[in-house]
Amino acid sequence: MLHSIRFRLTAWFASILTVAILLISIAMYLGLQQALMSNVDQTLRMAAERSVQTVRQNALKSTGSTIERVRTLTYIALAPTRLLLLEGGVDRIDPLFPADIHVDSQALAAAARGESLYESVTVETGRYRLMTAPLSVNGQRLAAIQVAQSLDTEMVTLRSLRDLLLIAAPVTLAFATLGGIVLGQRAFAPMERVRRNVETIIADNDLSHRVGRQLANDEVGRLAQTFDQLLERIESAMNRERQFSADASHELRSPLTALKGELSVTLARTRTAEEYRQVLEGLEVIVDEMSLLVEDLLALSRASAGILHKEEFDLHALLEQLIERMSALAQTRQLTLAMKISNEPLLLLADRMKVQRVITNLIDNAIRYTPHGGSINVQAYHDGAQVCINVSDTGIGIAAEHTPHIFERFYRADNARTRDGAGGSGLGLAIADTIVRAHDGRITLHSTLGRGSTFSVWLPES
Ligand code: ADP
Repeated sequence: MLHSIRFRLTAWFASILTVAILLISIAMYLGLQQALMSNVDQTLRMAAERSVQTVRQNALKSTGSTIERVRTLTYIALAPTRLLLLEGGVDRIDPLFPADIHVDSQALAAAARGESLYESVTVETGRYRLMTAPLSVNGQRLAAIQVAQSLDTEMVTLRSLRDLLLIAAPVTLAFATLGGIVLGQRAFAPMERVRRNVETIIADNDLSHRVGRQLANDEVGRLAQTFDQLLERIESAMNRERQFSADASHELRSPLTALKGELSVTLARTRTAEEYRQVLEGLEVIVDEMSLLVEDLLALSRASAGILHKEEFDLHALLEQLIERMSALAQTRQLTLAMKISNEPLLLLADRMKVQRVITNLIDNAIRYTPHGGSINVQAYHDGAQVCINVSDTGIGIAAEHTPHIFERFYRADNARTRDGAGGSGLGLAIADTIVRAHDGRITLHSTLGRGSTFSVWLPES
């Protein structure tokens, strides 16, 4: 449960939401409190100012000592008000002024300094907001006007808000978390479906299943589609391997059947020494054919493994060596094998033995598929940052319908198959292609049926 993303997401979501709701609630409560208080303070200030004003006006009109005048004067009270004498004592108490609010020295001290003071006090009769305003007559600071307002209404309003928040916040949190859980479930359901599909693929060992079908084109859907592409690749690679094993077995079965047939016929009765010799010579041809095939299979598997023993070498020297070695074979078939190589060194950083195998395979094919009297040309030159090797012949050529498949394993063009003894294992070009690709190069074919073929190999220069 703790390891599920859904759970962690919901937990995070709920925690953040709790903090947010808490902060908003506190801010709302404090904001309202502030607004109410400033409202009360404003009322108190207006009441106090009004009282101070009336006292001053009346004081100017009356006679007697200043303090007497202040004491005897009437004023208009907009809120419960009392007069505090700075020398001590309370005077002219409004009957509405809460009697249990004591005069505090802080208020008197502030008034003596000529400052107004706001206070909140709690007494038996309730909670009050007090404002003490200094009162000076004829430039003499004699008294202070103190105004009070009950905070009952404000307290009720604040308490109602608090109660509302205490109910609304948990309910909102619960609904939002529930919504989060449902949304999480809906968002993760396709993932669970993909997981179950993959599980089925593993259980059935069937790569033809696809996981992303019927999924929306969202993040999960696209992930599943990518996974399907991977499955498709693996499936086709496995099919290719299966096909390859079947083809390889088939290729090996033919010579083995021939071998078995020859042996059965020969062993059916006693033969002369000469007859045995003839049979053995026949068998040797079949065994040679089989070893060639096995050797090619091995070469192909090594090439597919992609292990390269790279070294820097001059292609020039390698080509000269190969052409010298193969011209004897070309001569036996009355073919001219010529070479045209640029004079500058053609340096390659590659697996020498493997590159040699590619070129040998191409020249070998050219010799094999070119009728007597034809010619074979090998060319090598720089082509940008690459070295290009062309092997062209004036041979039988390859029909256009075969060219797209010519580099496939065991693929043979019909005209080659029908030529007596001309066919090889059908792996030569596949081996060449695999080796060239492993070197980040490419191999192409241009051919005209009955006129000849040109195989071109591009390899990156060192
Ligand atoms: P194989 O061992 O049969 O030669 P390859 O893979 O070397 O196998 O070649 C595949 C097929 O390509 C051959 O069977 C042949 O039909 C055709 N082929 C290859 N090289 C040539 C060429 N130079 N001229 C005509 N056909 C060719």
